[in-house]
Amino acid sequence: MRPPPVLEVAAGVWQVVLPWTRAYILTDGADFALVDTGTCRDQELLLAAIQQLGLEPRRCTGIFLTHGHCDHAGNACYFAEQGAKVYAHVAESPFVEAGQTYAPSGLRLLGPQGFMFSIGELYWPVRQLPLGAQLSDNDTIDTPAGTWRVVHTPGHTPGHIAYFRESDRTLISGDALLNILPFIRKPGLSLAQPVFTSDLAQARQSAHKLAALSPRILLPGHGSPLSNDTTARIAAFVARLHM
Ligand SMILES: [Zn+2]
Repeated sequence: MRPPPVLEVAAGVWQVVLPWTRAYILTDGADFALVDTGTCRDQELLLAAIQQLGLEPRRCTGIFLTHGHCDHAGNACYFAEQGAKVYAHVAESPFVEAGQTYAPSGLRLLGPQGFMFSIGELYWPVRQLPLGAQLSDNDTIDTPAGTWRVVHTPGHTPGHIAYFRESDRTLISGDALLNILPFIRKPGLSLAQPVFTSDLAQARQSAHKLAALSPRILLPGHGSPLSNDTTARIAAFVARLHM
């Protein structure tokens, strides 16, 4: 196994490039927190990334999930077993804690959305876990890389959240705002595909909410960081989204 690229993308924030998604290590050099954890199959890669930074898994102080999809929450349970608290939005709790599926119910389960989620949840199962705390919009969280504000950005999932560090306007956007065109894998601002999104209209509104923060550095759940002309580029992107 080749260790994954780990890049410092903002002060104390390291982006781990996993095969499908991005996780973030927030550290002061001794303790660390994670925002998202990749799929269950990324566990070794994530541990290798932590080791590359000279950190010890037992010094993980918290796992902050943007949402409970299998490519973000796959290793939360592992770190909880090592003693870390896991945090997610209160509206994400039925999926993370109680094992509710993201696949739509009824006849829609037979459509493309049901198919995609069923395959994902079979191939990348997420173990249920009790949350250390449920987060709400505008809560603040303390991490080894400073204080971040919780921004509820529903749409992709009901309890999706982003994390915003006001001190340098760094935004970890999860899947509420991507910097890659999914599947085509071409760099560029984008929303997640409709097939993976529970409410598209809400997802568009949430993108506007993120743009209003005027982020200086964007750290998405998929794609590379954006730190050049970020505020204007995000504003231009959301202006093209029909509400
Ligand atoms: Zn997702």
